[in-house]
Amino acid sequence: MLTGKRALITGSTSGIGLAMARAMQSEGAEVILNGFGDEADIAQLCEELGASHTGANLLDTSAIEAMMKDIGGVDILVNNAGMQHVSPVEDFPTEKWDQIIGLNLSAVFHTTRMAVPYMKEKGWGRIINTASAHSKTASPFKSAYNASKHAVDGFTKTIALELAETGVTANCISPGYVWTPLIEGQIPDTMAARGLSREEVINDVLLAKQPTKKFVQPHEIGALAVFLCREEAGNVTGANWSIDGGWTAG
Ligand code: NAD
Repeated sequence: MLTGKRALITGSTSGIGLAMARAMQSEGAEVILNGFGDEADIAQLCEELGASHTGANLLDTSAIEAMMKDIGGVDILVNNAGMQHVSPVEDFPTEKWDQIIGLNLSAVFHTTRMAVPYMKEKGWGRIINTASAHSKTASPFKSAYNASKHAVDGFTKTIALELAETGVTANCISPGYVWTPLIEGQIPDTMAARGLSREEVINDVLLAKQPTKKFVQPHEIGALAVFLCREEAGNVTGANWSIDGGWTAG
């Protein structure tokens, strides 16, 4: 049970983050949502989960600092917000590179550095970073994303070691392809980059990577995140947990 724990989950108005928020709330955690979206939809989510919401843009360091100060201490920090762009490296828009590194990597550093003092003081904390199968392996045309996710793995291991004697753990969860708006959004660009139809992208590019031939379901990631928050997971730190249908086993 996570009763009495406060959890900030970034990028939780949609997809994987929302599933993790639902899973933690159902275990009794107080959940703080973050992310963009339709105001009425977010208000409805807050009501459903008894949650609060911060719309801080994690590409803006001062907005992250204001958010963390505003929220106060959290017991569980899930760095989940992320974005993707698919393009050959020579055409990769430089502003997209900066945004992807900013959101997928630098924001993780900023929230973490501000969350750690409270966790250390309490002698308990859980930091969970949503990385990706692309933190362990690569596919073409995703240079910024793959670089950012490999870096998140390195960052997570580093803070796990720094915090090892404090009661605070830090781990990555690395999904394969999960059916969320992020995946749906990259299908047209992958069609263009590889000259394929929608069906070919789904079956021959995306699911070709996953031996199970199934998309990972967001609630499965929620269950893994809850496990990492349990007392029994107190010795699980510095790990990068694959949930990818066997993709990175190959
Ligand atoms: P999604 O697009 O469904 O959700 C992204 C969330 O991040 C949304 O809540 C959005 O509002 C928020 N967000 C985007 N930009 C933001 C910003 N600047 N500031 C604050 N919030 C912002 O994506 P998803 O598929 O659920 O992905 C979540 C995480 O999982 C990402 O880190 C992604 O890289 C990772 N991931 C996804 C998959 C997949 O197959 N979907 C696979 C591996 C890893």
